[in-house]
Amino acid sequence: MTKVTGSMAERVLQELMGYSSFRPYQETCVHRLLEGCDVLAVLPTGGGKSAIYQIPALTLHREDARRRCLVVSPLLSLIDDQMAALNRRFRVDAAAGELLRAGGDERGQLAAAARLGDGSAAAAAAPFVFTTPEQLKAAGALVARLPLCLIAVDEAHCISSHGRAFREDYRELGELRRLHPAVPICALTATASSDVSRDVVSLLGLRAGHAVVRAPVDRPNLRLAVALRRGLQQDAPELAARLLGSGGSGAAAAAAGQRAPQGIVYFQTRAEVERGADALRQLGVDAEAYHAGLEPPRRREVQERFVAGRLRCIAATVAFGMGIDVPGVRCVVHYGLPSSLESYAQEIGRAGRDGAAADCVLYWASGDASARGRGGRQSLDPELAGQGLREVLAFVQTSGCLRRHLAAHFEDEDGASSCAARGGEACGHCREGRGGAARPQLFVDYGARARSLLATVQLVRAGATKQLDYHCGRHTKEVEELRARLAGARHGAGRDGDPAFWKALHRALQADGLLECNQYGACLLSAAGRAALDGEEPIVLPELPELPAPPPPQGGERKRPRGGGGGGGDGREDTPLRVELGRWRRAEAATRGCPAFAILGDRALDGIAAAEPADAGALLAVPGVGPAKLAAYGARLLELVRDHGEREAGRGGRCL
Ligand SMILES: [Zn+2]
Repeated sequence: MTKVTGSMAERVLQELMGYSSFRPYQETCVHRLLEGCDVLAVLPTGGGKSAIYQIPALTLHREDARRRCLVVSPLLSLIDDQMAALNRRFRVDAAAGELLRAGGDERGQLAAAARLGDGSAAAAAAPFVFTTPEQLKAAGALVARLPLCLIAVDEAHCISSHGRAFREDYRELGELRRLHPAVPICALTATASSDVSRDVVSLLGLRAGHAVVRAPVDRPNLRLAVALRRGLQQDAPELAARLLGSGGSGAAAAAAGQRAPQGIVYFQTRAEVERGADALRQLGVDAEAYHAGLEPPRRREVQERFVAGRLRCIAATVAFGMGIDVPGVRCVVHYGLPSSLESYAQEIGRAGRDGAAADCVLYWASGDASARGRGGRQSLDPELAGQGLREVLAFVQTSGCLRRHLAAHFEDEDGASSCAARGGEACGHCREGRGGAARPQLFVDYGARARSLLATVQLVRAGATKQLDYHCGRHTKEVEELRARLAGARHGAGRDGDPAFWKALHRALQADGLLECNQYGACLLSAAGRAALDGEEPIVLPELPELPAPPPPQGGERKRPRGGGGGGGDGREDTPLRVELGRWRRAEAATRGCPAFAILGDRALDGIAAAEPADAGALLAVPGVGPAKLAAYGARLLELVRDHGEREAGRGGRCL
């Protein structure tokens, strides 16, 4: 093989792609491939992944026009996008890419062989031949006869069963190395843990001396932020404002070539996508829906308008974005939790590809976790799905720097603990936390009280007002009628709480999707609400400022909880024992790597601090402490209470 110099590759880059220089990490990959080495490139979306194989392929194709680059891609729809992008990008006479079509019958195979294999039409042949693993398998012996200069395997992590996207057909790709022992293989992936990397190298048969090139995950021009999801109706104006471009977007748009700033909003379901697109349009945002349920021509049209800059915003499921390369996306919003940090990284990778600042905001509510969890149980590998979700939850709940958290997840840790130390755009947490102030606690486990209200809602099929009046034990005419019909069951179950608290909780449960109100105004439990009522999981809701203090555990006086404290706090962590319990819970959560509420809810800690239980039976009587919690933490909690009692007694003695 002719030794190809780097400067030829640079000429290709310049002449065909219109770039003047390689982007970071592209250069290493391109040069190693041109030297004949295999390469595993782990680059985030937006890291110029495809140029890594396209430039050496075009360079080698210029050397010997018979030899072409075989590109294996997981989906036909992706291939369509890739070919369209190639044809747009490269100034080549003929089409830059064609599809390896080798339908089952022998004649088809022969025709394909004549077209692709013997090089007779080589001068006009496209430099790229695309295929999926399935088609490659169907093509059989034809593959061995293809004269190749390079093999590119896109989404290479699909070959590893350690990954979350394992595809059986990818395993067959190991055969390519046997058929073409001397052709360099370029394996590409956006994200790969070290386990997955090892699998890719061994299963694809990358030869000794191969290079693994990893780009940093951290992208300094992305402003990461996490926000509370309150419901589309409430959040839509904020979303619209983000999409219509706030902050430096105008200047950035000008720098990117006069295209208006564009945005992508990811929703979890098709129905949400449709509702989201409607809501945005009503607020004056030029938005279209995009999901797998649309007719392919419609989908293509929406995508093309977006790519051409003629559409401001796409509301989409995660089906949108693969293979999309739009430089000026100023905003990527996740409206609901992504399924894993891998997909999150990939999806925000579509923002700010031009290098200018872009916003990436993730809106979530705790209900997303249970909805995602249920979805995860149906997926191929529930354990991995659960793991991915836990990692996403840890990310949205971290009080530290979001960029650091993400980088650390991908083992891209440079030790910088904040955006200030990293340089670039500050994440939401670093912006809020400026001056060293700790972020306030945002979420509270309302488990027992939420279940109490859910139980009443299940029983009282009516509107919110009537349900709340019944729950709080009012005696209006309507409530009395209900009470007679229901034989008094659950009437006044929430008598001990402030009616304003129950009202706020009702609203929060609605926003979280546990309650649904139909068009006749009746509020019912959703499927998630029924699961929450029957389960023992924490019911974590945003700690809304309008929620008044929880009622004292013994009923009776309604107004202020113990401590009589002014200050308007909710009375938590005001006794020394409660402070100690809180400290223990934080340490326990840190050790187990889970959020604090997953250890024990605030109500349980409040209850323990108030009751000071002396034995397991008394501890179990505290609301929020079930048998599982007793088994896990009972001994330690009782020890804490006992030690505290002894200390107090000692102190008391001295005082007397
Ligand atoms: Zn930060």
